[in-house]
Amino acid sequence: MSTLKVLDADFSSWKCEACGEKLVPRPIELGYLESKFKVELPACPVCGLVLIPEDLALGKMAEVESLLEDK
Ligand SMILES: [Zn+2]
Repeated sequence: MSTLKVLDADFSSWKCEACGEKLVPRPIELGYLESKFKVELPACPVCGLVLIPEDLALGKMAEVESLLEDK
């Protein structure tokens, strides 16, 4: 299973609100429609919180969908 890079933004300055830890990119398995795939998302190394950027939720899913349909 390949990992899709969907993050355009630099999130190195983002922090977990609960822990104050810097978020690190982590491959996260997502299910979308009938498919599963991995995307790199910023996650907290301490509590495991995964941040899903709003533009991913709003726009990138359409890109991912088209990637899947290209198969
Ligand atoms: Zn945390």
